[in-house]
Amino acid sequence: GDLNVKVPVDTKDEYGKVAQTFNDMTFRLREAEEARRRLVADVAHELRTPLSMMQLKLENYQQSVHHIPPEMLLRIHDEVIRMSLLVDDLYVLSLAEAGRLSLNRKPLDLTVHLERMVDDVKYEAEENGLDVCLYTNSMPVTTIADARRITQVFYNLLTNAIRYTPRGGKITVEIEDRVADGNAYFARVSVSDTGIGIPEEALPHLFDRFYRVDEARSRHTGGTGLGLSIAHHFVKAHDGFIRVASEPDEGTTFSVYLPSGNGILNKG
Ligand code: ADP
Repeated sequence: GDLNVKVPVDTKDEYGKVAQTFNDMTFRLREAEEARRRLVADVAHELRTPLSMMQLKLENYQQSVHHIPPEMLLRIHDEVIRMSLLVDDLYVLSLAEAGRLSLNRKPLDLTVHLERMVDDVKYEAEENGLDVCLYTNSMPVTTIADARRITQVFYNLLTNAIRYTPRGGKITVEIEDRVADGNAYFARVSVSDTGIGIPEEALPHLFDRFYRVDEARSRHTGGTGLGLSIAHHFVKAHDGFIRVASEPDEGTTFSVYLPSGNGILNKG
């Protein structure tokens, strides 16, 4: 349908208000329609590349007298797994964007949670020649959160830090309680790296889905391009927010602010 309709608003009475509301609604519909159209185009583009690659490989072997070598099957299998992850990520992202993400919120001690997560990624970091450290200014640092969603947020930030930091670098996780912002207190978890950094002009687009600073490099490192969008929307669903500071060739810090739930654990 044509969403470019607009009703003239010439009166300040009830009719004027109805006309104004109508115009606001068509504007929002048009925005939603545009977002949907863009999403379909992005998804088609993201799935097209790995699918074409697999199709080509399989067709080459159909025309050859040789069997498919096991390494080739492994590579195709990896691609299939990557596409499945992409589809899963897209699904939760669409739920979160629509404000329909189900959250099972409970008191969560971020210090204990992050210590466990750092242990989980330590091996991969060390394989990549990186050191991982964790600091905290108090214990416990409590928030009310869905542990599974929060795990995905920090998993995305930690794997990015590993991915975009050259050997010999360092990743630091810092957990603080009662950080004031505006007129509220937050628990703050910062994930810093000494990596390649992000150019200033890229920062405003960083949380857009499928945005990558360096398309070739990120594709090679195996990310889906959805990690930061998911982190942003999951944190937003918890009434928090993420800030980023970065200096090219120096490193990047992502700071996650979550509502402080301090005292809740003690109150029992
Ligand atoms: P990807 O799957 O490509 O990593 P993300 O949404 O997680 O997608 O990140 C988007 C882009 O932001 C990345 O492609 C990369 O260019 C940039 N980026 C994210 N984290 C970092 C970091 N810690 N250091 C440098 N660049 C980063």
